[in-house]
Amino acid sequence: MAEEEGVTKKKSENFSEWYHEVIQKADIIDQRYPLQGFLVYKGNGLAILEKAIGFLEDLLNANGYTKCYFPPLIPESLLKKEEAHIRGFQDEVFWVTRAGQNEMGEKVALRPTSETAMYEMLKLWIRSHRDLPTKIYQSTSVWRYETKHTRPLIRDRELLWNEAHSLHATLKDVSKHMKEMIRIYSKVYEFCAIPVVFIDVKTGLFAGAVQAIEAYTIFPDGKVLEMGSINNLGQRFSKAFDIKFVKEDGTQQYVYQGCYGISERLVAAVVAIHGDDKGLVLPPNVASVQAVIVPIFGEDDENIIKYCKAVYRKLRKKFRIKLDLSREKTPGWKFNHYEMLGIPVRIEIGKKEVESKTVTLVRRNDREEFLSHFEKLPRELDNILKSIQTDMYKKALSEFQKRLSEAKNMDDLRKILNEKGGLVKTEWCGKQDCADNLKAESKGGEIIGVPYGVKEKANSSCVWCNDKSRYIVYVGNTY
Ligand SMILES: [Zn+2]
Repeated sequence: MAEEEGVTKKKSENFSEWYHEVIQKADIIDQRYPLQGFLVYKGNGLAILEKAIGFLEDLLNANGYTKCYFPPLIPESLLKKEEAHIRGFQDEVFWVTRAGQNEMGEKVALRPTSETAMYEMLKLWIRSHRDLPTKIYQSTSVWRYETKHTRPLIRDRELLWNEAHSLHATLKDVSKHMKEMIRIYSKVYEFCAIPVVFIDVKTGLFAGAVQAIEAYTIFPDGKVLEMGSINNLGQRFSKAFDIKFVKEDGTQQYVYQGCYGISERLVAAVVAIHGDDKGLVLPPNVASVQAVIVPIFGEDDENIIKYCKAVYRKLRKKFRIKLDLSREKTPGWKFNHYEMLGIPVRIEIGKKEVESKTVTLVRRNDREEFLSHFEKLPRELDNILKSIQTDMYKKALSEFQKRLSEAKNMDDLRKILNEKGGLVKTEWCGKQDCADNLKAESKGGEIIGVPYGVKEKANSSCVWCNDKSRYIVYVGNTY
């Protein structure tokens, strides 16, 4: 294989350069589109996203959600209705000010998120307590003029995502539903073999939210990435948008709301967490091709081709299979190429396999080889794909857990953030000043929030100011 065709950077030596090389070469995205922060998704990249979002949509449907579609354009007057919301997004909005030869009467925003578009309509749909809960979602694009350095699939100006919204009669119902969403999102991360922790965030809430639980994963360079957010909106938007319902006793009340988002960062995490020096390693659940059949030509080629086709026919109904009968490239070239593309299983077929009615199966994640008889192949491939999926998650989880630490004082905290990164548990008084100083002094260590579901209480002193602490928090260098 010519050098420029394979991955040349080492993941362990320079993660960032490796990441950029792999996403380009392994058909994840092409970032050469002439508009900064806008990506072209290629086969592998879009497949990961679509498989993950498809899995999420099935879970949402099973939990009473309805899929909807709302227009991408939002009139300025709507976007401005909720104060904190517009304050949070005003520097990031793309505006449409002209249509054809005419200036727009009212400028319209390309949605940075869809609360304001949806809630204007939900106000018309919600009448009585019998309409609650109402749960809707859409899988779509939003646009944000990111002013920070853009990074493909991590910080883009067009986000591909799924946003879900729920309306409830009481605040307690929202909290209960947030737990449900944590369970749903957890399943999606596991489907992609991405380990996460959920954090009740204390700094940098979604604009307009009263509470946010966010999922974080850890990248191989030790930085942490927010992977999805579960927001409690209280009654902020329902009051701004006048979304009311008639209670059983005949009185009117504003609804309580939650909104939830998960994006293309799933793709970034799959690439970053599982890839190796040869390229992508795809979890079978999200691989566009789960197994590739590669013939080893030499002798008896007619029969090899015939047998390859029979294997293909036996598998294609149940699995996503590619059959590569081309003769221009050697088997060795193909092995490297499909390894770079991350295809979970390679099926090798040569003269030996034809004669014994078997195939040789090679796992991408650990290169283990198996021999399977033709008749048993569907079941054996199924088992191998399942065990790859499980093994990849276990391996990622064990790496993840190695990067969870604790620090009692600033010296330890600095040292851990410098040497291995990840998420560091420590204690904080709750003052924003301390968070700001800590971030500046530790070169980016951010107090994210309280580990979700952890029962232990703060009982020591703030890692920065030594005053009595209020929270046990996770600190990490975020992307
Ligand atoms: Zn403090």
